[in-house]
Amino acid sequence: MEQSDDATGALRREVSAWLRDNVPGAWRESMTGTAQESFVELQRGWFQKLSAAGYATPHWPEGWLGGGRSLAQQKLIFEEVARADAPRLILYFVALYHAACTLLECGSAEQQARYLPAIQDGQIWCQGFSEPNAGSDLAALRTRAERRGDVYIVNGQKTWSTMAQYADRCLLLARNDRSGPPQAGLTYLLLDMHAPGVTVRPISQITGDDEFAEIFFDDVEVPVTERVGEEGAGWAVAQATLASERGLTLVELSQRMRSALPRLADAINAAGRGDDSALQDDFGNLLARVDATCALADRYLHKRITGEEGPGDASIVKLFYSRTLREFTLLGRRVGGFTAQCERGFMRGATQETGNWPLDFMNSYNWSIAGGSDEVQRNIIAERMLGMQREPKDWHTVERI
Ligand SMILES: Cc1cc2nc3c(=O)[nH]c(=O)nc-3n(C[C@H](O)[C@H](O)[C@H](O)COP(=O)(O)OP(=O)(O)OC[C@H]3O[C@@H](n4cnc5c(N)ncnc54)[C@H](O)[C@@H]3O)c2cc1C
Repeated sequence: MEQSDDATGALRREVSAWLRDNVPGAWRESMTGTAQESFVELQRGWFQKLSAAGYATPHWPEGWLGGGRSLAQQKLIFEEVARADAPRLILYFVALYHAACTLLECGSAEQQARYLPAIQDGQIWCQGFSEPNAGSDLAALRTRAERRGDVYIVNGQKTWSTMAQYADRCLLLARNDRSGPPQAGLTYLLLDMHAPGVTVRPISQITGDDEFAEIFFDDVEVPVTERVGEEGAGWAVAQATLASERGLTLVELSQRMRSALPRLADAINAAGRGDDSALQDDFGNLLARVDATCALADRYLHKRITGEEGPGDASIVKLFYSRTLREFTLLGRRVGGFTAQCERGFMRGATQETGNWPLDFMNSYNWSIAGGSDEVQRNIIAERMLGMQREPKDWHTVERI
């Protein structure tokens, strides 16, 4: 149920006052440089505060701490967190959105009772879907899950798994049967990342960060009780995970982009270029695009919640967001001039508008790939929304956002 203006105003005041008192000071320093410990410490501390206050899980149902919020309230909390420039929960977003939403939709009562409190307590999750030869074409994945009595034996490799080196559990999509069409014969498992036979190898990025990793499975045992849904029905469960990745993540990210606009304006003024009319035009255009991204994200979330989502709706938001983020960071890079181009240093796990423009520009490419590349989004819009001719069969695409 939506609330009155008074109630909304009261919640906004409550959240913003809480954030004023609790957002860690000088947090960017803890995420800068190479120190993993200070990054993890910052993320843990911030998550625990936010979770205890109920602001980490406003999208969970009634009965869970902080849950049962209306759509307007959820958006309000995201807006305030973004406006307060609080650190993004990069260690926890897979747990909070992907894992929790999948368990709430498809998990057994026993799995929900076991994992949802653990997630609220700070259990870290990663997502093991992509493989070296299965990204856009996810259904081509080859990691095997072979049933032996009460366990599955898992062998294979995943890649690009965000924050896997810190994770306690993995949302794993694996193949139990190779005889049918690619989407059939997939099983969805909750895998213990501390189990014998799991090896994690972080991937170094051009930014200096290593926010994702490869995971190798060598005869890893996963109890049958850790299967979500039926054996062979993992594709449908994976769609639930991918759908949960869309809504709130894009609302949060677009709100953060909007909140970062003053930082870009400050950078323009600090560079003495406030009177540059070409730059003023570009900034005006960017402002309009950022507002449009926020509006599209809001509309998309509303459609999802009311069951009106159509094919391609999510792709439009994802594509618009990734293109706007690119323009945003490119403008920042231009403002910084040649000196900014040479800047070094990185911020661990910080993927957006940090004000380190060359770094932000490189990181903006993440969003053109993660959760389904821009090209794949265009295919989805063309084929499923506009009804254009499908591309040849060997370019098999999968809706991944
Ligand atoms: C920041 C980040 C975080 C990620 N986190 C995770 C994670 O936690 N867990 C996980 O499982 N995966 C994760 N991924 C992986 C991501 O889902 C894949 O990278 C993505 O789906 C693309 O797959 P690929 O890298 O194999 O590229 P490919 O599929 O090999 O694509 C290569 C190029 O070909 C283009 N292409 C492919 N198919 C088509 C087509 N049909 N038509 C036109 N062009 C096409 C693509 O657009 C791309 O430019 C992450 C990726 C990034 C960048």
